[in-house]
Amino acid sequence: MDFGLKGKKALVCGASKGIGASCAKVLAASGARVLLVARNEAELQLRLQELPGEGHDYLALDLSDLKSVRSEIPLKVKAYGGFDILVCNAGGPKAGSLLSATPEEFIKAFETHVLASSYLAQVVTPNMKKNNYGRIINIISTSVKAPIPNLGVSNTIRAAVASWAKTLAHEVGSFGITVNNVLPGYTKTSRLETLKMNTAEKQNISEAEVESMWLLQIPAKRFGEPEEIANAVAFLASPLASYINGINLPVDGGRTQSL
Ligand code: NAD
Repeated sequence: MDFGLKGKKALVCGASKGIGASCAKVLAASGARVLLVARNEAELQLRLQELPGEGHDYLALDLSDLKSVRSEIPLKVKAYGGFDILVCNAGGPKAGSLLSATPEEFIKAFETHVLASSYLAQVVTPNMKKNNYGRIINIISTSVKAPIPNLGVSNTIRAAVASWAKTLAHEVGSFGITVNNVLPGYTKTSRLETLKMNTAEKQNISEAEVESMWLLQIPAKRFGEPEEIANAVAFLASPLASYINGINLPVDGGRTQSL
């Protein structure tokens, strides 16, 4: 589907696989010129070749390494002449209970998800303000509506990102910039496989049993495809979503029970 993004420039984080890679593909298919950001250069090169359209590039970067983020990102912002779309996304924090989490796990998650996003927003918004057009979309989790058991650090950090995003939405809303969060439900990526394995181990059941248990919670009776998350991101990135600002949008087949 074409979301009408011809001429727009998009910086997509966590873009070497999963939801981020799908976002990059859908945005590129809609005409955007994309910068892929993730840690693994070999995977980024493969993703780059798969993108439709021209003028795309990649940057191998660990978002938890703020020193590198601060030195590398401005060079790409300059090379692209600014970005219209920023997709903040990275791997989810390690699963586990809050009582077993180490301070280092909290710090790494805070750096990767809050500090990196905040810095990226600071460097992309000047150009967005100039053009009176900007879209900042954060991939977080349905845990901002209902915390998920055994995801202690993740639940805590997602709430911080949601609060950061809402605050930013107010700060930039008068400049044609929107800031929204997309909350994926169970989506078929490597993250889902890791969580399935972890849950099976913790509950001493098979992975097939975990899968059946999860599917029971989803009215759609299936897991999501990464493209289904990416389609929501592309819509929010488009001019069509100009009056949607500061929301948390679950894309979860109806699983989240809260209103
Ligand atoms: P994934 O593990 O398949 O992909 C994560 C991407 O982020 C990869 O490209 C990876 O290389 C990159 N990445 C990870 N850490 C990074 C870092 N420090 N710096 C730069 N890049 C980094 O995960 P996914 O399933 O695509 O999930 C994306 C986000 O959505 C995660 O935050 C995840 O927790 C969240 N989420 C996923 C699901 C799901 O079911 N898949 C559900 C809810 C929320």
